[in-house]
Amino acid sequence: MSDITLGIIGSGQLGSLLCQAAKKLNVKTVVISDDEQGPAQNYSNEFIYSKYDESKIKEFIDKVNIVTFEFENIPVDILKKIELKKKVLPKPEINKIIQNRKLEKTFVNDLGIKTTDWAFIKEAKDVEKNKNLLPGILKSNTLGYDGHGQFVLNSLDDLKKDWCFTADYILEKRVNLKKEISVVITRYLNGETYIYEPIENIHKDQILNHSKIPADINKEIFTEAQNNAKLIAEKLDYVGTMCVEYFIDQDNNLLVNEIAPRVHNSGHLTINAFNISQFENHVRAVCDLGLEKVEKISNAEMFNVLGKDIETYRSKTFNKDEFFYDYGKKSIKDKRKMGHLTVLKK
Ligand code: ADP
Ligand code: MG
Repeated sequence: MSDITLGIIGSGQLGSLLCQAAKKLNVKTVVISDDEQGPAQNYSNEFIYSKYDESKIKEFIDKVNIVTFEFENIPVDILKKIELKKKVLPKPEINKIIQNRKLEKTFVNDLGIKTTDWAFIKEAKDVEKNKNLLPGILKSNTLGYDGHGQFVLNSLDDLKKDWCFTADYILEKRVNLKKEISVVITRYLNGETYIYEPIENIHKDQILNHSKIPADINKEIFTEAQNNAKLIAEKLDYVGTMCVEYFIDQDNNLLVNEIAPRVHNSGHLTINAFNISQFENHVRAVCDLGLEKVEKISNAEMFNVLGKDIETYRSKTFNKDEFFYDYGKKSIKDKRKMGHLTVLKK
């Protein structure tokens, strides 16, 4: 064992995969989570169940050297409290921007990088003022994931339903999508980066369905996507692995959809397709273990296993190019991410 103990906030599949990467690097892990059944406890050295109460957070802080997280929606004041005692990476300031779609898009646009056309919405009349963005998607300004908090607005008629103005929103013009891609990048404390090649993503009902490399894109988009991700990571002074999700429209414009300040579902294929995965790179970066040479082993395709489909996968047999991950979640829920399968390809 090294003498580093990494604290991880969150106990889902991303936390589990981070713990497994840490184990490989001899880094101890303590996971803290408000989900008593979180699967990461099966892989961490220690697990603390806590609803963010002071005493449990203190216990967590006392046990670890560095803190990171598997999801971005942790209240920033809690991260800041932890930061008074232990290093938190990526920095909580970054979460403040990325938790908030308005601040996130403004940050990206200010770097000269295109996003979808959008407007900040507080009430129905703000939508009327921005009807040029219809048909569009109204997204809750904070706390969205896997399509939660999103409402399609085809025309102003859809506004008659007043259910949607209970919080702040942004309205985004609906992009006529040619493709979606993502770029996973790891940035180290000394500013060095490793940028994985763009990954092509296919969504179904706003949830990632499968991902593959190589992405079927031209050289210009390949380079632009990587360069934008690098610029974003640098401007955020980011440390760790993050992901930039992109849209490509019918005219081949590359638009940033959103930034995930953490390891990302589309990067799961890096576990088998590269010698060093997004998870290992994250642990290396936040624990300051140094960037090793990253090499691609194979092309690959990753399929998410949602809801009760997991039962079929559990009884399947796989060949040597197929890697099935069962997250070991206790309850099966419709559309819940239960596992994934990565298939290595020629
Ligand atoms: P989440 O935070 O839930 O991941 P996203 O904003 O990434 O939300 O939206 C999820 C998916 O919904 C996207 O990956 C895309 O497939 C679709 N989507 C979201 N916004 C738009 C848009 N403006 N135009 C077209 N498709 C969109
Ligand atoms: Mg998304």
